Amino acid sequence: MKLTVLGCNGPYPAAGGACSGYLLEAENTRVLLDCGTGVLAALTARMAPEELDAVVLSHLHYDHMSDMLPLIYRTAGKKRLTVYAPTAPEAVRALLAGDFDLRDVAQGGQIGGMTFTALPVRHPVPCFATRFEAAGKAFCYTGDTNTCAALAAFAAGCDLLLADACFTDALWAESKPHLSARLAAEAARDAGVKGLVLTHFNPGGDLVTLLREARSVYPRAALAEAGLTVSF
Ligand SMILES: [Zn+2]
Ligand SMILES: [Zn+2]
Repeated sequence: MKLTVLGCNGPYPAAGGACSGYLLEAENTRVLLDCGTGVLAALTARMAPEELDAVVLSHLHYDHMSDMLPLIYRTAGKKRLTVYAPTAPEAVRALLAGDFDLRDVAQGGQIGGMTFTALPVRHPVPCFATRFEAAGKAFCYTGDTNTCAALAAFAAGCDLLLADACFTDALWAESKPHLSARLAAEAARDAGVKGLVLTHFNPGGDLVTLLREARSVYPRAALAEAGLTVSF
């Protein structure tokens, strides 16, 4: 499997950056995970978007789906893309319903040579972690979440975990919508994953502290950055 980071900011992009978007490739199958601000340009630099096999949206916050709207224009007349998304908020989902083959991400699915399953996580709108299996490998993406008791079991043994790690210890609280880097690392450790990439960084965030706090728990933790590719 191969993961390419197209954007890793939230909830708005850094100068020249992009919000959440990740290209996952395996078994001649290409899936876009989330499609936030700036992701369509980054994706188009690498491939024709209409050649995607599917888009899987963890949730319908704008920093994870706003570039789905110009993607409608890009794919019009070329391909009716399959899009997996949560069923709520309905007003946001309705923006996509007419132009894509829209399915419920909660049900998981088969996309070309990949199989995926979904786990509801803890965020202000319905959001799903996803786990993809192909060619004997497994990849897990947390989506946006704060602590979620079922996450470690869901990610158990996967080859790579891509995890929301928005906050330093100093800024995290149980009431916030995101994990801290340390908590993401604890989930990685508890799940026994083989690799961890941290993501969802506020523009201007303290990445040095995020990485240090994560590595105090899970020494192989790495930071996402636009253009990063991980093969596993
Ligand atoms: Zn987000
Ligand atoms: Zn969100």
